[in-house]
Amino acid sequence: MTFITTPNQQPIASHFINGGYVEDAAGQVITSVYPATGMQIAELHSATPAIIEQALCAAASAQKAWAALSGTERGRVLTRAAHIMRDKNRELSVLESYDTGKPLSETLVADAASAADALEYFGGLAGTLTGEQIPVAGGDFVYTRREALGVCVGIGAWNYPIQIAAWKAAPALACGNAMIFKPSEMTTLSALKFAEILIEAGVPAGIFNVIQGYGDVGAALIDDPRVAKVSLTGSVPTGRKVYAAAAAGMKHATLELGGKSPIVVFEDADLENAVSCAINGNFYSTGQICSNGTRVFVHETIAEAFVARVAERMDNAVIGDPMDETTTIGPMVSAAQCDIVEGYVAKGIAQGARLVKGGKRIDRAGFYVEPALFDGVTDDMAIAREEIFGPVMSVLTFTCEDEVVQRANDTEFGLAAGVFTRDLTRAHRVAQAFEAGTCYINTYNLTPVEAPFGGMKSSGLGRENSKAAIEHYSQIKSIYVALSSTEAPF
Ligand code: NDP
Repeated sequence: MTFITTPNQQPIASHFINGGYVEDAAGQVITSVYPATGMQIAELHSATPAIIEQALCAAASAQKAWAALSGTERGRVLTRAAHIMRDKNRELSVLESYDTGKPLSETLVADAASAADALEYFGGLAGTLTGEQIPVAGGDFVYTRREALGVCVGIGAWNYPIQIAAWKAAPALACGNAMIFKPSEMTTLSALKFAEILIEAGVPAGIFNVIQGYGDVGAALIDDPRVAKVSLTGSVPTGRKVYAAAAAGMKHATLELGGKSPIVVFEDADLENAVSCAINGNFYSTGQICSNGTRVFVHETIAEAFVARVAERMDNAVIGDPMDETTTIGPMVSAAQCDIVEGYVAKGIAQGARLVKGGKRIDRAGFYVEPALFDGVTDDMAIAREEIFGPVMSVLTFTCEDEVVQRANDTEFGLAAGVFTRDLTRAHRVAQAFEAGTCYINTYNLTPVEAPFGGMKSSGLGRENSKAAIEHYSQIKSIYVALSSTEAPF
């Protein structure tokens, strides 16, 4: 085993407000830990009420001038930020790997890179945002304006910190809003670099601010009357709290929440492709992905071959140092997340599933656990019903299409779903029957910025990415124009 070093990643200060770093050491300490070693890499402070107020004032006072620029002007700045992010991709990826533990082989292609895509896409869209002109009776007409909401709050989960920040900030800023972003307290660092890049690109001070903190800081932001909208990426229980708080203030909300998504593999599927997608869709980012296809329904005639092939290919996983670019499985984000995985592996065994492979804590420094493969899983088991957010694949078998569609949809979640078959008609029929916001045919877990992403049922509200996100960061105003005088009854 190689010796993994833990370099210092201390930022200049904890928060980034009004174009610069700000500290208030009175805030509760937040320790940033490198998951591959368990050692501290930075120490930050949670936002105090004074810091929260500073961020709200900065965002509220900067927003109107930003919204008054033309969309093309805003878009130019966002596009410049995308270029800077790409130039700094390696540096940002290394930081993201230290903060999350995800292997560099992933962060180099999936994190800052997808954040840059969001900036470029919404930078391009900004100049195209227009209203419409609607003729009405008597030669009068109505025209609509697509207006910014004002100050938006973004609250992030810890699995894709810089991507989450960009997926929220890029459409928000394109529409003329200001944003205050609160990263997860587990992964505090990359959002600060993102804020630096936006300033370097020419985003005015106060338009994108980062403040650190636990759930109470997010809650305080949502409650403030100066805030018009919240966009959360997090768990379903947090989503319920955030939605209730937004409702109390009649605020807009986008909720990207958890999942327990199905992958359905029919007997005529390209087996090797289905195996590849099930591996990526369960073990990428050490299984810490909301849309993972953790319930893998395999037709009973090919289940044995499928499980054998997944198990065989799991032997090729390279578990180790995230900074070694040959590593394909890194640590989990925290010891607590390892405990959750171990708990579910024990429950799976206790409830009668067969642990084919993996699932054990690895005896080394850091938060490492082996990816786990279960077969013989039934619909009622905890590992088939609850979101684990770790590398645990459950294989279930099925007999016919109607049955598997009903079982695939029998969950409170509805984030993603995948179908694998060579039968074109069946592929579309099943995809249309899935109760999930993002569905795949013969692939899984691709999230290009051009396509809407989000959940049905308890997996959330609203959509990120694509033109659909514009609807969630702007509001339409109708302006009625009369061309003749108005009569009154008296
Ligand atoms: P949590 O729900 O625990 O936290 C999400 C964020 O909300 C954190 O920043 C958290 O702060 C904050 N928060 C907690 N309580 C409140 C509150 N009352 N008001 C405002 N903010 C609050 O999720 P995790 O960070 O553990 O992330 C894992 C979850 O995120 C999984 O369920 C996963 O499926 C989901 N997820 C969904 C994605 C999607 O796009 N649909 C993508 C990625 C993850 P703090 O951490 O300090 O408590």
